[in-house]
Amino acid sequence: MQELQGIAVSPGVAIGEALVVDNEGFRIPRRFLARDAVDSELERLDKAIDAAKKEIERNRDAVSEELGKKYGAIFEAHLLMLDDSQLRGELEDMIRQRHYTPEYAVCRALRRYAQVFQRLESNYLAQRATDIFDIEKRLLRHLLGRRREEFAQLASPALVLAHNLTPSETANLSREFCLGFVTEIGGLGSHTAIVAEALEIPAVVGTGPFLTEVSGGDLVIIDGYKGLVILHPDEETIARYRHEVEQNRSLATRLEGLRDLPAETTDGERVELFGNIEFPYEVDHCMRRGADGIGLYRTEFLYLGAESEPDEEVHYEAYRRVATTMGQRPVTIRTFDMGADKVSHLPAPEDEKNPFLGLRSIRLALRNLPMFRTQLRAILRASVFGNVRIMFPLVSTLLELRQAKMVLADMMEDLDERGVKFNREMSVGMMVEVPAAVLMLDHFADEVEFLSIGTNDLIQYTLAVDRSNKDVVGLYNASDPAVLRLIDMALEIGRKKSIPVDLCGQMSGNPVYTMLLLGMGLKHFSVTPAAIPEIKKVCRSVTMEECRAVAQRVRGMENARDIRSYLKEELRRRVPELGQ
Ligand code: PEP
Ligand code: MG
Repeated sequence: MQELQGIAVSPGVAIGEALVVDNEGFRIPRRFLARDAVDSELERLDKAIDAAKKEIERNRDAVSEELGKKYGAIFEAHLLMLDDSQLRGELEDMIRQRHYTPEYAVCRALRRYAQVFQRLESNYLAQRATDIFDIEKRLLRHLLGRRREEFAQLASPALVLAHNLTPSETANLSREFCLGFVTEIGGLGSHTAIVAEALEIPAVVGTGPFLTEVSGGDLVIIDGYKGLVILHPDEETIARYRHEVEQNRSLATRLEGLRDLPAETTDGERVELFGNIEFPYEVDHCMRRGADGIGLYRTEFLYLGAESEPDEEVHYEAYRRVATTMGQRPVTIRTFDMGADKVSHLPAPEDEKNPFLGLRSIRLALRNLPMFRTQLRAILRASVFGNVRIMFPLVSTLLELRQAKMVLADMMEDLDERGVKFNREMSVGMMVEVPAAVLMLDHFADEVEFLSIGTNDLIQYTLAVDRSNKDVVGLYNASDPAVLRLIDMALEIGRKKSIPVDLCGQMSGNPVYTMLLLGMGLKHFSVTPAAIPEIKKVCRSVTMEECRAVAQRVRGMENARDIRSYLKEELRRRVPELGQ
């Protein structure tokens, strides 16, 4: 049994067989052979070895010609390994005696060799492990001939273990068969993490390298609460986790009883609990949990999963479906927020050194006007079907906001001319995600009808920590007093200007912060749908006076660690069921 600590990004426990996707996206299967397939499978292995050798020889010759024989010799070591009769014998034994597939045998054997090298004291020899992985990949390529795109098409339940998953790869994971996932890299606020919550599957990211320790089919447990991954768990651990799964299920069932009750403190303060969605189907998750509306629809996921740019009808259909299902409840459609870790077919600048500080979000939209206009037209057309609001992301200057509103006004005129119906009174809002927006919020508040604080970005831009980087995850902290001051300021300005302020970053779905946010005066929470019952439970367990006292106490504290442990303690005291 081996335990890995990563970063918990999506709650829940998953127990099942691993599907390992390595750096280059090969899925490494574990399959056993039928007895009568052994000979033909050995033949397949030999063919793959031959093809790999030919490829290496070609590389050797090309490099020797370009750079000289000395460099070509690098490949000789790979050839020697492939010619090694001991390795060939080992592979044959695995296939003959244990009925492993050649793919699985190749992984097992070569990864074992690589591990021996990695454990050697010498740095030089440890580096040689890379050569062995290289040979493994080459053989797998010839055996499998399949690549990354296909791993998403799971045919049976599995836990996906990968070096990295992009947000769009995550979005394409089978909702039926992917029970959870783990990635070696990634951080707390990454969009890959956010999609995991949308899929409602447990996920852990940023474990550091471990894929060489597992093979496809191995039993694995993902603990999405504690950020733990357990490889080859023993019976006792499996039983403990099965018990936990049961307990969680019964808590969820108890919380289901709150579905039709309002999110209201015990002294009668009513707050609104909205859902955040990435895909139209999640509107059903929101309805099931009794959401008061959609506070954030991340429309960029329409582009991320698509082969080509979605046209106006694709946008329109998605928005219409969400608006119609929600009826009179507000549906906040955020215009596309691409760039940084959310990349699509868009012509992003080639080598942005700091993509989170680069051409992303509203900046990208204003540079790609035809695409932006298409989306705005679709949102306007869908606005007649319910209570649709529009919101611009990552606004950092007034000029940007005015430009975006101008494009929207142009599109209204365009639709008018064509006699197409839309809601002229549709509310326009903006996200507050950079400190500059908070500092200028009194001005912004005069030009929009609502504001929504995006703490995922606000944290990263306030503290200068990349939200998707595991190496600085300790600094990425919603409890940081600087971040809390900005939230406090934004809420205060909202009150003074009588403009509603939502909070739609991940922070608002974490019950640890609910009392604090209520105490600061937040009235509109927008959270991942699965978090709605828990947040409602906290609201219905506390008084505003208690919450204000919590906020006041926190205002006097000066470091994130103390604030967080104080908030956890308060939660444990007031709502023991949620405060583990
Ligand atoms: C945020 O930044 O808090 C937010 C909600 O937007 P996203 O996570 O999509 O960047
Ligand atoms: Mg954001």
